[in-house]
Amino acid sequence: MLKRFMAIVLTLCIFSCGLALADEDYIESEFEYTADGNVVKYYGGEYVYVPSVLYGTTLLRIADNAFMDLGITGVSIEEGLVEIGKEAFSGSNITNISIPSTMENIKDGAFAYCAELKDVFIFGNKGMQFGENVFAGTGKITFYIACECDNGAFWERLKIAKGDDNYEIEVIHPNMSATDETDLFGATMGKCDDCGITISQYDFDIYEPFNDVSEDSWYYKYVVFAYGMGIVNGKSETVFDPEGTMTCAEAAKIAASIRASQTTGEQIVPMGAKWYDAYVDYCYEMGIIEDYITFDWEKPITRGEMAYLFSRCDFYPYYINEVPLTDIPDVYDTTPYAYEILDLYDKGVATGDVDFSFHPDANVKRSEAAAFISRIIGYEMRIELPKG
Ligand SMILES: [Zn+2]
Repeated sequence: MLKRFMAIVLTLCIFSCGLALADEDYIESEFEYTADGNVVKYYGGEYVYVPSVLYGTTLLRIADNAFMDLGITGVSIEEGLVEIGKEAFSGSNITNISIPSTMENIKDGAFAYCAELKDVFIFGNKGMQFGENVFAGTGKITFYIACECDNGAFWERLKIAKGDDNYEIEVIHPNMSATDETDLFGATMGKCDDCGITISQYDFDIYEPFNDVSEDSWYYKYVVFAYGMGIVNGKSETVFDPEGTMTCAEAAKIAASIRASQTTGEQIVPMGAKWYDAYVDYCYEMGIIEDYITFDWEKPITRGEMAYLFSRCDFYPYYINEVPLTDIPDVYDTTPYAYEILDLYDKGVATGDVDFSFHPDANVKRSEAAAFISRIIGYEMRIELPKG
């Protein structure tokens, strides 16, 4: 959730084209505001960032009706503002809003009839007051509440503000600092400055339900990761089958899922005659598989074929090695998919065996696939190869 919030904040762009009006009201950039810090009107784009200072004026309050009925879709309010006025956003198209920890008062009907509103981030302030019908006439909302707030008390206050119980609460930790500790995957852990909890940047539980994946196996962390990220499943609820093979269709599903997770985050919905048609189609559409390449979808995939899919599905190429092709004893420039195989070595995704051999014609084991998947998505797990 925080990652998404950061993305929203980072894409902000505040334009300024200063134009002062009468003594009392100013229009600077997209906002009209008063000298004593009330934002009264908005003329900007669909994503709103309300700053706490604009041309030397400290903004404190969003006035009654300021954003009412506008076609805006998201709002982020900077730390410093203390009040949202009556019906300030009512009837608008907003889907998400971020409320700063300095907010003290959200007045009557502020978000009433925002039918699209789904995510409300509240970054702190245990004492924040809600007026009446603040969220009246809204659908299902997830409230992301700072850990310093009392979850149960918030639940009761929201029930009154919303007028129904069609909402859920998730706890967020707005003030994280990096620690010296690393998680199972080698990524730096963060510690919450407010409640002290130490958490991994990967927001899934360290958990794998498989009887045949022991904690001391070399592939344990990879299976946990690839499973936790939702990219692979077991053969059953309790069996992963680490030594088992994988079909070309299963690998295409993985390639499609990696690309989707790195870009839109969408879930690809299976449809068509075969269970894998939608994934294969997606791979062709995204250019992961070139038009002239075909696979025998139901046969076990080789390591070379998998290198082709896994090298090409990676939307954010990141290289840590420079391996000459001549360093891989069993891969020549005439070997099918030689340059995709090399690409995986250069990214630290593949390492080969002791003498760097890749065994391109061998079938992929599911444990190996889990390792490749993990290293593509989690940069901390990539392997630096000795030079020369
Ligand atoms: Zn916390």
